[in-house]
Amino acid sequence: MHPFQYVAAKDVQEVVSLLEQYGDRARCMAGGTDVIVQARGGRFDLDAMVDIKAVPEVMELTLNGAGLRLGAATPCYRVYEDDKLRATYAGIVDAASIIGGIQIQSRASIGGNLCNASPSADGIGPLMVHNAVAVVAGPKGTREVPVDAFCVAPGKNAMTKGEFLLRMEVPAPAAHSGSAYQRFIPRNEMDIAVVGVAVAVTLDAKGETIQSARIALAAVGPTPILAKAAGDSLAGKPVTPENIQSAADLAIVAASPIDDMRGTADQRRHLVGVLTKRMLTKAIERARGAA
Ligand SMILES: Cc1cc2nc3c(=O)[nH]c(=O)nc-3n(C[C@H](O)[C@H](O)[C@H](O)COP(=O)(O)OP(=O)(O)OC[C@H]3O[C@@H](n4cnc5c(N)ncnc54)[C@H](O)[C@@H]3O)c2cc1C
Repeated sequence: MHPFQYVAAKDVQEVVSLLEQYGDRARCMAGGTDVIVQARGGRFDLDAMVDIKAVPEVMELTLNGAGLRLGAATPCYRVYEDDKLRATYAGIVDAASIIGGIQIQSRASIGGNLCNASPSADGIGPLMVHNAVAVVAGPKGTREVPVDAFCVAPGKNAMTKGEFLLRMEVPAPAAHSGSAYQRFIPRNEMDIAVVGVAVAVTLDAKGETIQSARIALAAVGPTPILAKAAGDSLAGKPVTPENIQSAADLAIVAASPIDDMRGTADQRRHLVGVLTKRMLTKAIERARGAA
């Protein structure tokens, strides 16, 4: 591996300056659980690894009436150990709890998962269904990018030279809302999703009618996919097995899977249907008050 500098940046400006100075030859490091593996594997040639964890803004976790501010490098364990966060953003907690094992979760961040922009990332779909926005800092200040539009190709995101992710902002869900995420993997843990499905729903006060729903899919396209038509199809509909089945059928249409060593396209389409039904059912249970 080509020798490179390790810099623990102290503030936002220092990160931006380093990224501008080194361009493609610098990488941010949050938990390092992707970027160190990639650097070792020779995926890119580095002059500088910019550790961002000493920048206070990227370690934030603030939850209030307006919603959640999740710093870009806040590790997964802080997400799933926060009971209030679990009660409001259960789908994000589902993902944080299954990324790697306990050692990985003590370092890895949802922000790093998002920046890495893997189609199979577990953390991105739950952010999408919660309408999260990525707040990016760069030479011209900060700007917001909806998480739906953040991943542009496998391993590529919407940030430009000198920019880095500061935090995700996730609005507070309406009353009677619930969310859930599940993936299929061939073993119990430490594997990449063959398919992942995230769902968020808002019900009416009686818990009988779906006011709105969002469904996102992992590992069935070049980027995580928001299955918009599938989610929208449920708006104003009663909670029935038939309506859940129709939404699952539309989620299958939104998927564009390939055959690879992890599974065939047909198996993946089948799994999208199964997991969408399961996650809709789980998110509805949670919206009705179940843990
Ligand atoms: C053993 C093992 C198991 C794993 N299991 C899973 C799993 O089950 N599910 C899953 O989805 N992933 C898994 N991963 C991948 C990885 O752990 C996750 O993607 C994790 O969330 C990455 O977070 P991180 O903070 O470590 O990111 P890093 O490795 O620090 O960064 C990831 C990428 O994002 C860039 N980056 C990081 N932060 C910023 C920022 N603020 N601004 C701009 N760019 C930034 C980095 O330069 C790098 O390209 C696993 C990895 C390992 C080694």
